[in-house]
Amino acid sequence: MNYDCNKLADLLFPNITGTVAQLEEQYPERNLPEGARVTRFAPSPTGYLHIGGLFGALVDVLTAKATKGVSYLRIEDTDKKREIDDGVSAIINGFNSFGIDFDEGVTGFNEEKGAYGPYTQSKRAEIYQTVAKELVQKGLAYPCFCTAEELSAIREEQEKGDALIWGYFGKWAKCRDLSFEEIEENIKSGKPYVLRFRSDGQEDKRIFFDDIIRGKIEMPENIIDEVLLKSDGIPTYHFAHACDDHFMRTTHVIRGEEWISSVPKHIALFKACGFKVPKYAHTPQVMKIDEEDGTKRKLSKRKDPEAAVSYFVEQGFPKESLIEYLLTLLNSNFEDWRRANPKADAFSFPFNLKKMSPSGCLFDLVKLNDVSKNVISVMDADTVYTRVSQWAKEYDADFYNEFTKNPEFSRNMVNIDRESPKPRKDIAKWSEVKEYFAYMFDAYFKPDFDLPENINKEDAKAILLKYIEIYDENDDKDLWFGKIKDMCEPLGFTPNVKEYKKNPEAFKGHVGDVSTVIRLAVTGRKNTPDLCSIMKLLGKDTVSARINGIVESL
Ligand code: GLU
Repeated sequence: MNYDCNKLADLLFPNITGTVAQLEEQYPERNLPEGARVTRFAPSPTGYLHIGGLFGALVDVLTAKATKGVSYLRIEDTDKKREIDDGVSAIINGFNSFGIDFDEGVTGFNEEKGAYGPYTQSKRAEIYQTVAKELVQKGLAYPCFCTAEELSAIREEQEKGDALIWGYFGKWAKCRDLSFEEIEENIKSGKPYVLRFRSDGQEDKRIFFDDIIRGKIEMPENIIDEVLLKSDGIPTYHFAHACDDHFMRTTHVIRGEEWISSVPKHIALFKACGFKVPKYAHTPQVMKIDEEDGTKRKLSKRKDPEAAVSYFVEQGFPKESLIEYLLTLLNSNFEDWRRANPKADAFSFPFNLKKMSPSGCLFDLVKLNDVSKNVISVMDADTVYTRVSQWAKEYDADFYNEFTKNPEFSRNMVNIDRESPKPRKDIAKWSEVKEYFAYMFDAYFKPDFDLPENINKEDAKAILLKYIEIYDENDDKDLWFGKIKDMCEPLGFTPNVKEYKKNPEAFKGHVGDVSTVIRLAVTGRKNTPDLCSIMKLLGKDTVSARINGIVESL
């Protein structure tokens, strides 16, 4: 350049009076213990939280927690095309639902906490422009007046030729060498322009960096004169990344692997700005096995309802289940840790970025269900009662009314076979509770007397008639089962399952068949939690009415 860069800086940014040095003072290095990591989750406010976002945010929060550092939430709203009104709330609600708690950053629509804000990019224009102005002063940035047509013409020519790299650089970068007078003239005549980085990268040079998850990575150096500020003064992702992660004092940039190819650009920008380059960790994508063709693919917003975090809230997966499951995907040693610390809060897991696998994580709903059944099985009855009520209130008003009509009843119901050393593991999500316990509510009970093959109607009738005779709602479990056993022989069944197996021809069936018949009559199901407890809760009137109803129908 043969002009005074300070003059150009004043021409382009007449209203910027602050300096980068002042910003350095305003946002000082954080005073944290040795080894503490500062991480951030930086979504665009699209009004949608992808499961991959929850996965990424969990990595940020756990990394900070495990090192006594800081995690924060930054909203990257510079791409107006992708934005919707108040797209922030859905993201924040998604995090709140799953207990993801950032130390700093955006906490709600127009709300934030922390000393390194504003944490929303659209509120940081002055910061970007201050840094940009200084880049212009140092001769490291220049205005580019090329129109969209001119840029596509460059692109077309590059596509036709044999250039290995496409973009605005070298001989293609027409505005790189404009004189001050030309620039001034363009600006005076109101020509729109972007601010570009003046790259000093060379085509044959390579850069190296250490990705914490992937190890050493080597790539060609950046040679592109990347756009820093768009024509409306809004920064590009690349420039905002450098400014924000520097002044928010991020030590570890943990983000999706789609950004790996941009690292050379980012390193060049950090260096040009005089900022220390942060450590990078590029996380793998969340994948699934396609139900149709069995291939592994990215979870898609369009095809997979489970891509949205809201799906898990609507389905009533407890927050602990999803977090627990994601942790098994994140670190292979999580399950060992869990076995050693069965009751510990998942967020106290000593997460280690280095133990993350660089290849895509397979998200498997079946496994999530299994994890969730375990998680729910060890919850106490009060917790289950409260959680089911909260879920139903929001998503199933009818069930909410039935379930909360008699809290004591429902609490006892969910406590059947719970709070014991071997609790049942049947329920994976709150939306299953209504169907699982349908027979406990007259409103949902559907009689179904589909007998097992080895029992005919006459025998079933005889069993039910006998049972009605001996049924006493005050019997405890042992007495109850003793009576069922006593019923067996006179009816041609055996109370001894082993004996039956040895000599099946000698009996109509065994004690299990006898109780199945009673279970079917009372609940319409062949499988339920403890039948004696169910009958006690249902009460004599209901139990007798259901059994008599079936006897009459036979
Ligand atoms: N706003 C970027 C995105 O949504 C964030 C990338 C990053 O974490 O740096 O992809």
